[in-house]
Amino acid sequence: MTLPIMLFDDRKLKPSFGYVFDPTCLEPYESIVSILWKYAWQNRLPGHLITVQLTRKPIDPYEGIAACERQVDIREVHNALGLRLKTVRESMLPEALHRSSSPWLRYCRKCLNVGYHSVVHQLNRVEKCPIHDIALITSCQNCGACTPYWLNALLLDAPYRCSKCRAIYPGILPSLSKRSPMQKWGRTAITRARFG
Ligand SMILES: [Zn+2]
Ligand SMILES: [Zn+2]
Repeated sequence: MTLPIMLFDDRKLKPSFGYVFDPTCLEPYESIVSILWKYAWQNRLPGHLITVQLTRKPIDPYEGIAACERQVDIREVHNALGLRLKTVRESMLPEALHRSSSPWLRYCRKCLNVGYHSVVHQLNRVEKCPIHDIALITSCQNCGACTPYWLNALLLDAPYRCSKCRAIYPGILPSLSKRSPMQKWGRTAITRARFG
């Protein structure tokens, strides 16, 4: 007798399979990393299952892909997370800007404290967070390691944490259920810095 085995195709995880994502938790120019961290967090999904949803091409999720339009399939992410194409597109930098952005995850502690990381934080020309006016950080304050800004199982498995020592970047984990939306001046500051 054959046992009823549920075949589970990693590449077909969609909201209809019971995975949900609340797009109202996103803010302007929120980075693809930030979006995927929220998705991982809300669905308790391991990083390797998320990484394989980012492109139709077969990839090694531990190696991963660059966080740019050239490698991430915008339509796949739009389908998998139920996000607007515009939101997915704005979560990455256009090619020219991507090339002159930081290869390391660059973050503002205060923004991460509310679960937000922006593509603006990756821009080398932006030294301080446009919202909080504090210096952007690339290294872990606990172990000193820099995390490559690269979509793979390692990074996506560690939402808001250093993927090396697991220290929480903002000090405490953000409360995603009790967050308050970004204020209008914050949205304006981030939008201005994106095009500045
Ligand atoms: Zn900030
Ligand atoms: Zn660390």
